[in-house]
Amino acid sequence: MTRNDIDKIKKELDDLRNRIRYHDFKYYVQNAPEISDHSYDVLYRKLKDLEDKFPELRSPDSPTQRITVQPLNGFKTIEHKIAMLSMDNTYSEDELRDFDKRVKKNIEDSNVEYVVELKIDGVSVSIRYENGVLKSGATRGDGYRGEDVSQNLKTIKSVPLRLIPQNSEAVPSVLEVRGEVYMPKDKFMQINKLREQQNENLFANPRNAAAGSLKLLDSSLVAQRGLDIFIWGIGEYRGVQLDKHSRSLEYFQKLGFRVNPHFHICANIDEVIQCCQKWAQKKNSLGYDIDGMVVKVNSFKMQHKLGSTSKAPRWLIAYKFPSQRAQTILKDIKVQVGRFGTLTPVAIVEPVNISGTVVTKASLHNQDQIERLGVKVYDHVLIEKAGEIIPQVVGVLKEMRTGKEKNFSMPKSCPVCKGKVKRLPEEVALRCLNKFCPAQIKNSIKLFVSRDAMDIEGLGDALIGQLLEKKVIRDYADIYYLKHEDLSSLERMGDKSAQNVLSSIQAGKERPLARLIYALGIRHVGVHVAEILADRFNSLEELIESGLSSLSDVEGIGPIIAGSIVEFFSIASNRKAIQKLKDAGVNIFQKKSLTSSYLSGRIFVITGTLKNYSRKEIQDAVKLNSGRVISAVSSKVDFLLSGENPGSKYDKAKKLGIKIINENDFNRMINKRG
Ligand SMILES: [Zn+2]
Repeated sequence: MTRNDIDKIKKELDDLRNRIRYHDFKYYVQNAPEISDHSYDVLYRKLKDLEDKFPELRSPDSPTQRITVQPLNGFKTIEHKIAMLSMDNTYSEDELRDFDKRVKKNIEDSNVEYVVELKIDGVSVSIRYENGVLKSGATRGDGYRGEDVSQNLKTIKSVPLRLIPQNSEAVPSVLEVRGEVYMPKDKFMQINKLREQQNENLFANPRNAAAGSLKLLDSSLVAQRGLDIFIWGIGEYRGVQLDKHSRSLEYFQKLGFRVNPHFHICANIDEVIQCCQKWAQKKNSLGYDIDGMVVKVNSFKMQHKLGSTSKAPRWLIAYKFPSQRAQTILKDIKVQVGRFGTLTPVAIVEPVNISGTVVTKASLHNQDQIERLGVKVYDHVLIEKAGEIIPQVVGVLKEMRTGKEKNFSMPKSCPVCKGKVKRLPEEVALRCLNKFCPAQIKNSIKLFVSRDAMDIEGLGDALIGQLLEKKVIRDYADIYYLKHEDLSSLERMGDKSAQNVLSSIQAGKERPLARLIYALGIRHVGVHVAEILADRFNSLEELIESGLSSLSDVEGIGPIIAGSIVEFFSIASNRKAIQKLKDAGVNIFQKKSLTSSYLSGRIFVITGTLKNYSRKEIQDAVKLNSGRVISAVSSKVDFLLSGENPGSKYDKAKKLGIKIINENDFNRMINKRG
């Protein structure tokens, strides 16, 4: 290729990248897309193909580089050039007025303009750009050093990888922006719903969900969490003049950042207070959580003059919405077992009125929280009701102790079934591991009969409840032993409907192995993982017999999943239920509709444009014949299926001596009887 050709390709790449950046900005920042999703996909695909073809022309700020495939082993530390201090909090109007007085006294000026912003309940981060390109991103950490979460921040589509200045705005040579990463409420509900289906612990609130997601080591998982960001502040900057905070917010917007639109410039503290009151009323109308307002002195010159204490700047303050707190006595701590087996300590308190409702219980979350608070039985405690969440114990009045207080520790066995409890490696809570624990059994059965599992129609919530109550069933295997009279004798259950339920139970015996594996409710084994397991192991027996090491060898099964599977089958009650399933004649084998064993165990990579098949069709055909399609060429690959205009994979395969075939060859292969 000539120099000229390369320049032409470079130009095309630049052009595509800029167009995609522009549409990302329109879609994710301004919420005003100009092209259809399909047209966008076409552009993106074009860029991706061109970059695949010329990997040496790839660029780290390309829109295709938002997700890195390789998970990290841990986060590095990044030092903040300018400290990310925390904020002082206030809870009342009087305290806001005191703040105003302090500011005016310190700067010796009675005219102070403020900016009031929503205090987004998320995770603070700092993102650094050099010459307009994203260099790194870090969490706040201790204010001086944070964790390098660059990879994860890049997955947030409203974070520009390259700044997009509008109206020929100058790009600063250095710019550090600070912002709040958050999870929108609807995404939060969606993710918790999914976690519920996969038997995973639910996130307590969107903030925890955002924090947990940002700390994941695998950025491809972060990309699925739907995080978003609002930029609210500035760190180090060079090559631009700014005199006011409000100007910097406008400037951020011009550079392509997402800034929360609800910021207000207030001429005095009365306006600030009005603004805070207004949002205290309106806070629930937003698509994300806020826990207060942030009040900042607008002028940078004044900010500079005011300076900071070692903990927080003197030129800003957080106004927290009035929380609903009360003081009472903790009489006892009871441990509840949730429907996923989580043990939660609950404080039983002397009844107390908090804004109109009588509160008798408050959550203590887990053992860690009990230790953090240092709470003992008979302590005087502070409890708080925030939003819709159940009240929680937030403080202990240790000065009121009499010496009669008693220590508390979590039980060693499940308070409901006396079964084994365990603190799982990646969790703070203890869990009862017995799927048939009365606290969990209903949920286990609901999962077992659900559509993605054994898909048993007619066995609804109410019916399961009735059967459990009458002790007709004690675990999910008992379903297969139900007799006509067990059902027809129940309330609101006629002869006909009893018959229907029984037939759908019978039909459910023939479900594929993957569904059965999913139905067992093994932690971390969702629909997708169950399919991988069914593909790899020919029967449930084989899966049960496989040890930790052979499970960890399966692609897509990490150590946590493998550990959870081994743990599950080591529990006697689970094995007993499985024996009952087998005795009832439930299918435990992987039925392969083999057309050829010729492809069995063979690994394929596809490149270029195919004429007769879609990539999906090829993948399905290979999978059906027990082979595999992967994306990267390496020496373990058996065949490269090459279409028109193959990419760099072609050259690599050739170099490695991998057999290269075309669509016709492939066709012959799958039609060969082996
Ligand atoms: Zn239990």
